[in-house]
Amino acid sequence: MYDIIVVGAGPAGLTAALYARRADKSVLVIEKETFGGQITYSPRVENYPGFNVMSGNEFAEKLIDQVTLQGAEIEMDTVTSIEGEGGNFTVHGKDADYNAKAVIIAAGSKHRQLGIPKENELIGEGVSYCAVCDGAFYRGKTVAVIGGGNTALQEAIALSEGCTKVFVVQNLDFLTGEERLQRDIEQKDNITVILGKVVKELLGDKSMTGIVIEDNAGNTETLDLDGIFVAIGQQPENEPFKDILEFNEWGYIVSGEDCVPSGAAEGVFVAGDCRTKKIRQVTTATGDGAVAALAACRFIDNL
Ligand SMILES: Cc1cc2nc3c(=O)[nH]c(=O)nc-3n(C[C@H](O)[C@H](O)[C@H](O)COP(=O)(O)OP(=O)(O)OC[C@H]3O[C@@H](n4cnc5c(N)ncnc54)[C@H](O)[C@@H]3O)c2cc1C
Repeated sequence: MYDIIVVGAGPAGLTAALYARRADKSVLVIEKETFGGQITYSPRVENYPGFNVMSGNEFAEKLIDQVTLQGAEIEMDTVTSIEGEGGNFTVHGKDADYNAKAVIIAAGSKHRQLGIPKENELIGEGVSYCAVCDGAFYRGKTVAVIGGGNTALQEAIALSEGCTKVFVVQNLDFLTGEERLQRDIEQKDNITVILGKVVKELLGDKSMTGIVIEDNAGNTETLDLDGIFVAIGQQPENEPFKDILEFNEWGYIVSGEDCVPSGAAEGVFVAGDCRTKKIRQVTTATGDGAVAALAACRFIDNL
């Protein structure tokens, strides 16, 4: 049995593992997909204290090195549910079951989908959720970024460096991203912003040839495109924990700054983007990781 199992190897989970190991607890981190979490999608992180600029991958690699050097174990598996209480938890994974005295849930969030026909079939064939990952495939081509927040604007600016033409299609009548990013967008000759329109249809069978967009009055327009980058927000990855934790209306785990989830069995803690909070950033995720780990250590010491 481990002292602590951490679900998710993003900044929150890895920081929790780091703090728990330094308190001499045995730690297993279980990750289903991407070691380092969402930040690995970012080419340029400029707001993590102590680093002028670094890529998300660079940050993730350093963090994973640090955590494994401290002796945390990392396992690739998808956690499907958690059961137990009072210092005796079983974490069920797709591949195996794992036991621990305390559990820290740091499952983060993932890209929201448009939810329209053909979206899944065209993933990798014109539909992408990550300009950093797939932008290079669209060099010299025409693409659209769907969304108008910070991520959408950052992606549009990055894509405009290699693509011939970039549309930004936003459902609202205004962009919601930072003014600084809006100013950068205005200065780009090859970016056109289309406001007040939603993506109605994806065109193309084996690969994307364009999209149909529609305004509030039902007027439609076709954009001929090689690809779209969907950047319409995030959704928490909390489904496996629905039986043991309380969620808010958006599916985030209800918890305060103490990282103790509301209504949960003692010994369950939560950290990072998967919980209710105002600011979802690496700094706040790592802060949560430290708080959750130290709370878990205290819980174990008092058993
Ligand atoms: C494109 C982009 C750019 C960004 N740029 C910045 C920036 O410049 N500065 C900044 O501070 N923040 C930035 N962010 C936000 C930042 O990445 C997040 O706030 C941060 O990664 C949250 O960390 P986390 O550990 O809580 O969650 P995540 O990073 O989402 O990590 C959670 C991990 O848990 C795993 N997981 C989920 N469910 C399970 C399960 N059932 N079983 C096992 N594993 C599971 C996931 O696969 C994931 O790896 C950016 C995000 C994106 C997408």
